[in-house]
Amino acid sequence: MPIHEECGIFGIYDPQGNCARTVYYGLYALQHRGQESCGIAAINNRELSFHKDVGLVGEVFDPETLNRLNGTMAVGHVRYATTGGTQRENAQPLTLNYVKGTLAVAHNGNLVNTKQLRTTFEYRGAIFQTTTDSELIAYAIAQERLRCDSVEEAVCQAVKGLRGAYSLLVMSPQKLIAVRDPWGFRPLCMGRRGDAVIFASESCALNAVGAQFEREVEPGEIVVVEGGTVTSIRENCESATSHMCIFEYIYFARPDSVICGQSVHEARRRAGRLLAKAYPVEADVVIGVPDSGLDAAMGYAEEAGIPYGIGLIKNRYIGRTFITPGQQSREQAVRIKLGPLKSCVDGKRVIMIDDSIVRGTTSRQIVSLLREAGACEVHMRSSAPPFIAPCFFGTDIPDKENLIACRYSVEEIRELIGADSLGFLSLEDLHKIAPDATCGFCDGCFTGRYPISV
Ligand code: AMP
Repeated sequence: MPIHEECGIFGIYDPQGNCARTVYYGLYALQHRGQESCGIAAINNRELSFHKDVGLVGEVFDPETLNRLNGTMAVGHVRYATTGGTQRENAQPLTLNYVKGTLAVAHNGNLVNTKQLRTTFEYRGAIFQTTTDSELIAYAIAQERLRCDSVEEAVCQAVKGLRGAYSLLVMSPQKLIAVRDPWGFRPLCMGRRGDAVIFASESCALNAVGAQFEREVEPGEIVVVEGGTVTSIRENCESATSHMCIFEYIYFARPDSVICGQSVHEARRRAGRLLAKAYPVEADVVIGVPDSGLDAAMGYAEEAGIPYGIGLIKNRYIGRTFITPGQQSREQAVRIKLGPLKSCVDGKRVIMIDDSIVRGTTSRQIVSLLREAGACEVHMRSSAPPFIAPCFFGTDIPDKENLIACRYSVEEIRELIGADSLGFLSLEDLHKIAPDATCGFCDGCFTGRYPISV
């Protein structure tokens, strides 16, 4: 079974030092992208040190560890893997020693040619310690480095053999290198704070550390930071096409991030407005399922002229990984995660918006929570279209047999979740939610059509 990686990465070069601490804050702002494990690797006077473990950023790091790491360059990673236990050894950044020195690699995304790469490398004598794509990438770079004059050239050659999603931060003793795959599947942006150069999966992490957004790393681009100098290698940009994951806007990213010029909040709000136009219904209140359904609920309420209410309270102390794989624990999890606000929904006709329906478990539970709290009608709207296919590029979408929309019609799903009506954002409307985006999209999980063969 593949390991689905939903991750966040953050890296900084800062001549002032204290880099591990900045990465720590940056990772805190990216915690929504992964809660299973996290880590930071830092370079101080060309020496690499690192710390990584299973757990949330606030659990894994303490002031002592951060002081020990310190340095003028650092990269960090938050990871969310959904298969295979706790897997401490799969925590990132991945660090390695080889004849040319040390490397640290932080990776967000999934490759689709992992098997071939692994076999090829193993026949050349490689021994892998983890089951992650990221180790293959690190190995590929280390191999190329033996032939190439510089680490950036090695990165440029190594990534030519990779197919799939990779937003990468690579750190050598002297250089910080940011890379995006030529399809631009996963976001990666660049910012500045004084003399410091920073890279982050999302712009919300730049804000968190007081940095100014500068630009996106472009699909296929390799940005190299050495000392205070920033250079760009665009050799792999020529073949680049832009296919950013559209689900980043719907679910994955934080609403205060701007991705490829498009505010995530505004995209969600627009999705809500489009839903209101497509599936109007008479009701008393519009509520969103926290957190990723809230912005769309606001948009729906605005368009429909129906009051927006806070109908569900989310327990803030539960990470997304709390949704454990077993069906029974998943059902229990919803009750612990969400509490209905009786005064908001009692005796009301409620429109409830969530970002998506995957297996249908959450929606069924929420509909029943709302009815228990007195809602007389519950109309559900999903701000994503039905999932009909898996994602091979880093979002955890289960196999087809677990996707409710693969097995049932909309009317059947409505009945299964117990709602009075149900509407999904259409594919056509999906492509209207991000008019400011300067990129193209991958919508493979909603269409089964992918930008590269899988
Ligand atoms: P389900 O109960 O399987 O229908 O899951 C629906 C819920 O899962 C929604 O509330 C979504 O916010 C959430 N969700 C959607 N995509 C993902 C994902 N890739 N990882 C974790 N949760 C997700």
